Amino acid sequence: MKTIRDFDLNDKKVLIRCDFNVPMKDGKIVDNTRIIGALPTIQYAIDHNAKVILLSHLGRIKEEADLAKNDLSSVAEELAELLKKDILFSEKTRGEELEATIDSMQDGDVLLIQNTRYEDLDGKKESKNDPELGRYWASLGDLFVNDAFGTIHRAHASNVGIASNLDSCIGFLIEKELNALSILDNPEHPFVVIMGGAKVADKIGVIENLVTKADKILIGGGMAFTFLKAKNIEIGKSLLDEENIDFCKKMLERYADKIELPIDVAVTNEYTNDEKYRTKSVDNISNDEMGLDIGPETVEKYEKILATARVVIWNGPLGVYEFDKYKKGTDDILKFIVDNNIKTILGGGDIVAAASNAGLKDKVYHASTGGGATLEYLEGKKLPGLEAIK
Ligand code: AMP
Repeated sequence: MKTIRDFDLNDKKVLIRCDFNVPMKDGKIVDNTRIIGALPTIQYAIDHNAKVILLSHLGRIKEEADLAKNDLSSVAEELAELLKKDILFSEKTRGEELEATIDSMQDGDVLLIQNTRYEDLDGKKESKNDPELGRYWASLGDLFVNDAFGTIHRAHASNVGIASNLDSCIGFLIEKELNALSILDNPEHPFVVIMGGAKVADKIGVIENLVTKADKILIGGGMAFTFLKAKNIEIGKSLLDEENIDFCKKMLERYADKIELPIDVAVTNEYTNDEKYRTKSVDNISNDEMGLDIGPETVEKYEKILATARVVIWNGPLGVYEFDKYKKGTDDILKFIVDNNIKTILGGGDIVAAASNAGLKDKVYHASTGGGATLEYLEGKKLPGLEAIK
């Protein structure tokens, strides 16, 4: 796939789709990680004398009241500070004023256009990939660079729409994600998958896609209890995904040698961090108990398997990591992977947050930032944002 390096940017109007969908509180940016992640591509375009035009969505726009909450102007201010240069900001997502601003730009200038989802107020034009809108935005530039990994699983006007109408390529952020994730297309063996998180339902596609490639799948988190239930083990008040017991049964029958389940768990009586907990063998869970973390014997069992792994993909925490008492299983395994330098990709969302809380995120081989996009990649699905560029 073409990257920004493959084009001459000199004096060109370069549209870059960024992911500035940052957490906001009272109009202020709470965490600027995503903005920092976008800087290498933006800086490269500046250094190569492009006129840099940035687009991004922020939050959801369903009604008039959502506009002010999701105004991108504070991102422009943050960008100015990070890039140490003035940033132009267009309040409008289209029209003469925006076009005049672009016409006035000098090489190396940077313009941020208002939240692309402002266009959703009138018939979801951005989110439904209105063809006229994609064509219009494409008409503003000479080249399109998609660097918003978090939205490549969606066909929006600001990614697929523009890419369908203009020379297109990916930026450094997407390139880095794809380089890391593509290791899983043809992984070195032993290839071990760690699956945790809450519901089996959300992970069926990932399990089905990876189980054929993996040598082992280590199950933890809330979803482990539906697998245990499928083996007729009593799980008390633990999380159960009733509708998917049959799916788990089928997996356990077909891949008996691959799927590993917890042998002990931390149980308690209420879903809180305040109650006392006990560690029990999975055969001993009482009716009034729920399992909120994997136990130390399971950690040991999983570490033995991981010790020989060449590649690991991990999606979903192994316990309720948001509670101090139940983050131990996840943290122990994270630490083991880091200490033993095991090539591990953390597959988005909560497991990346857990690694970040444990101060280990930057020590793993790759922490994928994509959330839904990462999951769909792991499911083996085609990603519209990339297909449009190919
Ligand atoms: P997911 O988004 O599917 O990866 O799920 C992440 C969520 O799973 C986190 O909020 C965890 O608290 C939750 N989780 C992990 N283990 C358990 C468990 N044993 N019981 C209930 N929820 C859990």
